[in-house]
Amino acid sequence: MLPYGKHSIDNNDVEAVVDVLKNQFLTQGDIVPQFEQALANYTGAKYAVAVNSGTSGLHIACLAAEVGASDWVWTVPNSFVASANCALYCGASVDFVDIDPRTRNIDVQKLSAKLEQAKLTNGVPKVLIVVHFSGVSCDMQEIQKLTNQYGVTLIEDAAHGLGGEYQNAKIGSCQYSDMTVLSFHPVKSITSAEGGAVLTNQSVLFRQLSLFAKHGVTRDPSLMKSDSHGPWYYQQIELGYNYRLSDLHAALGLSQLNKLDNFIAKRRALAKRYQTNLANLPLTLPLGSSLNNSAWHLYMVELQQHDRRQIFETLRARHIGVNVHYIPIHLQPFYQNLGFKAGDFPAAEGFYKNALTLPLFPDMTEQQQEHVIDVLNEVLQ
Ligand SMILES: *Cc1c(COP(=O)(O)O)cnc(C)c1O
Repeated sequence: MLPYGKHSIDNNDVEAVVDVLKNQFLTQGDIVPQFEQALANYTGAKYAVAVNSGTSGLHIACLAAEVGASDWVWTVPNSFVASANCALYCGASVDFVDIDPRTRNIDVQKLSAKLEQAKLTNGVPKVLIVVHFSGVSCDMQEIQKLTNQYGVTLIEDAAHGLGGEYQNAKIGSCQYSDMTVLSFHPVKSITSAEGGAVLTNQSVLFRQLSLFAKHGVTRDPSLMKSDSHGPWYYQQIELGYNYRLSDLHAALGLSQLNKLDNFIAKRRALAKRYQTNLANLPLTLPLGSSLNNSAWHLYMVELQQHDRRQIFETLRARHIGVNVHYIPIHLQPFYQNLGFKAGDFPAAEGFYKNALTLPLFPDMTEQQQEHVIDVLNEVLQ
C-alpha cells in the first residue's frame, strides 16, 4: 500500500542515533540543547523547548499561558484531537471557531463575530489555538489584531507547518503569536520518532515552558523561593511533567532538520504536479496561492460529485493509501458528551464529508505519483 505520508530516513540519521547510543548520555546530554538551538535558528524564533510529543507541547503551551479551570480555550474543529484536548488537560472548557472552506483554516470573520459575542457574556477565551491546516499558514496578522484587541493569548499549532512560510518568515517565527507548537511524529515535516517543540520570543513564556516540561523543577538560584543549599540543590516551583525529549530522539530530529528544506522542496514539487494533473477532474483542489509557501504536510482534495466512501474504498483496493483528515473534533463521542452536536460547525463538517488525502511524502517517486493520478482519472471520469 502506498502510504499517504511517510518519514524519510537516510544513513546520516542512522549514524546520528547510533552515535548517541555509544556516548555517555541517552537523555539530558547536549544534543537536546543543540536541537533546540537549531529549531530556533531555522524558524527565527528566539527560544525553543523540545518535548516528547506535539501533544505535550500543546499542554505546556496552555500551562504557560496560565490556562485554568475557569478559562475557555478556542480552536478549530478540523484538526487532530490533541489541539483541543490540551485545554481539557488544564481543566478548561473548549469551544470551536468554524473554518473558511476555501483556505480550510480558521475563518477570521467568524472569529471576529464570536469574540464580539463572547465579550457580551464575559466568555472571551484565555487562549486561541489556530492550526495551519495541511501546512498552509493561517492569516496570522489579522488573527493577532483580534487576539490583541480582546487580550487573548495566541498559540499556533504548527504540527503541519514546519518548513512552510508566512509573509517571508518561516512558520514558527512567532512574529504574530505568543507560542508555536511543532510535532515530529513520522508523518510530519521532520521526525524524531515521537517528539515536539514549543517556540516563543518571550523570555517569561520560555522560562515557564521549560519548567512545565521538566517537573516544575529549577536549578537556577534566581528562580528559587529561598536560598540554595549548595551545588546539588534544586527546587520545584510549579507542578510540571516529565515531557523531556531524549538525546536519542533529538539526534534524529537534528539530523532530519538538516534535510528539511530538501524535504519541503520535494513536497512542493509533488503538490504542483497534483495541482496541474488533477485540474480537469471534478475535484476541489487546495488553493493555488499556497503552492509555494505551504509545508505540504497533506495534499487534500474534495470530491464534487462522487461518493467519498466509494472512492476511498476503490483507491485502497488499488493499493493507494488515501486517508481522511479529520473527523471534526466536536463530533467525537467524547466531545458530543460535552454538548457539541452535528450542525454546530457546518464548514468543517462539509469539508469532512467530501475530503480525501492523497499520498504525498518526500520519497514518493514520480512514477508512484503518476499511478495515483492515472487511477484517479480512471475512477472519477
Ligand atoms: C500530529 C498533530 C498533533 C500532535 O502531535 P503529536 O506529536 O502526535 O503528539 C497536534 N496537532 C495536529 C494538528 C497534528 O497534526
